[in-house]
Amino acid sequence: MPIYLDNAATTQVCPEAARAALEVMTEGFGNPSARYPLGQRAAQRLEEDRAAVAAALGCRPEELFFTSCGTEGDNWAIQAAVRHGRRRGKHIITTVVEHSAVLEPIKALEGQGYTVTRLKCDRTGHVSPEDLRAALREDTVLVSMMLVNNETGALQPVQECCRIVKEYSPDILFHTDAVQAFLKVPFTPAELGVDLLTISGHKIHAPKGIGAQYIRAGLKTEPLLRGGGQEKNLRPGTEPTAQIAALAAACQVWSGKAAENRARMEAVKEATLHELTAKVPGLEIVSRGDAPHVCAVSLPGYPSEMLVRALADQGICVSSGSACHKGKPSHVFAALGLPKRTLMGVLRISFSPESTVAEGAALAQALGEIRSSRMGI
Ligand code: PLP
Repeated sequence: MPIYLDNAATTQVCPEAARAALEVMTEGFGNPSARYPLGQRAAQRLEEDRAAVAAALGCRPEELFFTSCGTEGDNWAIQAAVRHGRRRGKHIITTVVEHSAVLEPIKALEGQGYTVTRLKCDRTGHVSPEDLRAALREDTVLVSMMLVNNETGALQPVQECCRIVKEYSPDILFHTDAVQAFLKVPFTPAELGVDLLTISGHKIHAPKGIGAQYIRAGLKTEPLLRGGGQEKNLRPGTEPTAQIAALAAACQVWSGKAAENRARMEAVKEATLHELTAKVPGLEIVSRGDAPHVCAVSLPGYPSEMLVRALADQGICVSSGSACHKGKPSHVFAALGLPKRTLMGVLRISFSPESTVAEGAALAQALGEIRSSRMGI
């Protein structure tokens, strides 16, 4: 097994989640819409799994809808919010550091006549609540602001921003992409005050292909897809019961020891940053990350892609930024206003509760050797 320090890209499925999926695939495989006992048992299991995920998120089961991934959840939230606000206007506020699962659907709406304000961030990747206040308009229908950034680990002031928005007008919907925040930082949707919130299974040791959407009780929304009546007519498609069971199992494992896991990841991250600074001359810390599992460093003059490949040759997996931006400098690091040489040498390092101080030290050792064996540019 490689040394895997790219847990913001995806995580290894935990044994409990794999076992739950296997059980549902091979034994409890009925269609929850079927009327015979095998189907009815699947329907009952589905509701138990929904309750488990809702408990981990801190919402009511009726407020949780299963989706295929974070990207679907983000797209759905944005579409639902603009339809909800169609009589109010056509102005959307978001931030320059969102994931492309938010930026791209909003860009598409811009092409259809919506006006978009993209809040800038400071050198640490944080947006300012005062900038948000200044951007609000009579025709604003949606604010979409992520909770934790996938590249810097920066935690945005979503609770404060949501309060500002709701004071301005309760009719403006607030969506947060909590894909990197779920179980990594403590929050509940109600504490944040958001209307819509998106999570994804594969960032928390469940399989790829499953996510969930929080929709505040009482909020009337429209579906993204049209089809059968599953998920109270809001998300048609036969429920992927095996992935849902796996997501529920991962939530149960994680939420039981969330505080302990956060402390472990924070400690390994700090030790890794310390080793990197000691072993790699010229290394800069780009972001220590507010969230415990993500940080970013740079080796100015050494292109990220080359570093990622050289580390991979030594069995170490890290990323040059979001896994969704292969080859191009990330828009997030560009938004921090880094000098070009720093920007081109960025590495994102991301941890799981299973990551160890020894793995961080191995990364520092390997990067130090790469640094001394190759010429920078
Ligand atoms: N939002 C953020 C912040 C992410 O990090 C990711 C995945 O990298 C997504 C959305 C997309 O989630 P998914 O891969 O489940 O579509």
